Amino acid sequence: MNKKTIIRTFEKIALYMELLGENPFKVGAFRKAANVLELDPRSLSEMDDILKLKGIGKGTGAVIIDLLEKGESDLLKELEIEVPSGLIPLLRIPGLGGKKIAKLREALGIDSLDSLRAACESHEVSKVPGFGKKTEEKLLQEIELLGTKKGKLPVWQIETIVKSIEAEMRGISEIIRFSVAGSFRRAKEESSDVDFIIVTDEPSVVREKLLEVLPIEETVAGGDAKLSVVLDMADLVDADFRFVTEAQFATALHHFTGSKDHNVRMRQIAKSKGMKISEYGVETEDGTVKTFDSEKEFFAYFDLPFIPPSLRMDGREIDRADEIAGLVTLEDIRGDFHMHTTWSDGGYSIREMVEACRKKGYSHMVITDHTHYLKVANGLTPERIRNQISEIRKLNEEYDDIEIFCGTEMDILPDGRLDFEDDLLQELDFVIASIHSNFNQSQEQIMERLHAAISNPYVNIIAHPTGRIIGQRDGYNPDVPQLIEWAKQYNKILELNGNPHRFDLAIEYLEIAQKADVKIAINTDAHAIDQLEHMGIGVKYAQKAWLKKETVVNTWPLEKFIREIIRK
Ligand SMILES: [Zn+2]
Ligand SMILES: [Zn+2]
Repeated sequence: MNKKTIIRTFEKIALYMELLGENPFKVGAFRKAANVLELDPRSLSEMDDILKLKGIGKGTGAVIIDLLEKGESDLLKELEIEVPSGLIPLLRIPGLGGKKIAKLREALGIDSLDSLRAACESHEVSKVPGFGKKTEEKLLQEIELLGTKKGKLPVWQIETIVKSIEAEMRGISEIIRFSVAGSFRRAKEESSDVDFIIVTDEPSVVREKLLEVLPIEETVAGGDAKLSVVLDMADLVDADFRFVTEAQFATALHHFTGSKDHNVRMRQIAKSKGMKISEYGVETEDGTVKTFDSEKEFFAYFDLPFIPPSLRMDGREIDRADEIAGLVTLEDIRGDFHMHTTWSDGGYSIREMVEACRKKGYSHMVITDHTHYLKVANGLTPERIRNQISEIRKLNEEYDDIEIFCGTEMDILPDGRLDFEDDLLQELDFVIASIHSNFNQSQEQIMERLHAAISNPYVNIIAHPTGRIIGQRDGYNPDVPQLIEWAKQYNKILELNGNPHRFDLAIEYLEIAQKADVKIAINTDAHAIDQLEHMGIGVKYAQKAWLKKETVVNTWPLEKFIREIIRK
């Protein structure tokens, strides 16, 4: 259990209560408790008095006890049952919060997207106090937009779904091994379904157990080779499970990982040698079926190096196979340079983040909490960051296997000023500059802000340069090629934010940056220990842009990092 989970549980409870039209004081108590925990600089393990904190009452305390003892909250589970499931998708409509949805439900009996659409079309919504004609039109537009997005889920949502399915599969003893396949394995930004390959000797038992443990909305097909279902996990998602033997595993995994175009190219290569590739193996000219211990052996059989799933795109990756050895891999990564602690809006203390990075085998890392402009994230004042610097320096003395650098993620203010003065920036080892506000400014204004940051001698890197959230918002629309030119001119790094919510910069821009010889840092922007794992998916995404090892500064040895970035 960690603090972030408790905070998120409180927020979810508040939201669900609001949806049900609960007493605002009750709702407020959960929001307030979430806020109290957010602002407390300590991590959960450092709090022995969490139930006595000002702002934690009887109701909120009971939830904490539940979470600590059982890992889940009974109250939240009850609410999840109580809230009509049709209301949840309404939360995805911009401008509709819990309160407004409750109002519509009370006044018009709205309980789903369909009933909301109908009520907008018959102009009933505009008659509800607080909802005018304009709002009604806007709602209708947003509902249509949601409709067009249907079918594809963003990678971060797929990631959560995959994780929870994997957790269930680990509990099924008849599964010998399994792997996710499909577009998620290829680190695509969006997927329309999830695919798994399962090795088992008892497919029917596994099938029945999967049907038991997964939240099944509908079973589309079920046999000894395959189970196809629609799962009800926040959104509806199609899931396919293929049951194979150990010998078939490698070719099945390759086949169902795709992409379609990649598979077409591989089949052409096989055909030219008189062979046939299927999910069961490679059929040779004399009709025998050859199987492989791994995908690597499968590729080697066709004189190809292992092609990482993320590179399996339009088939042309096969022509570029000799470049693969030079691309960045997870094993090359020596440090993570963007993460938050309880000093701002992270869930863990500095020491806990350091220990987690040591476990990953990193040789160096940078702590980068928010600055004071970002009040919602408990951003640091100059005084607090000076205290943090001395704490980090002291902590650094304790370790000889990892170097902890003092950094910041500084806000670029709406008027183009920076949140800290140069004399303070000078005291820091590493300065990230980011935009978190006024996304709706003109491109010109946004570019002025970015220029102010990137031309400042103490700024090392621009984080999540476009501000996009995949599947949710486009960000603030900067002129990225111009930004890349500036990065080149001022010798600055640009970020590939590896959090799957962001993947920012996007592939097309990473390619332009590498061509311009601009260096990239792949960062997790972790707000909790488990998010440090996003380095893996971040690297996969970088591979999609064919980023070479030397382009990515996280692969540089500590000495080079100090020489060329810290002391620059
Ligand atoms: Zn940020
Ligand atoms: Zn951040």
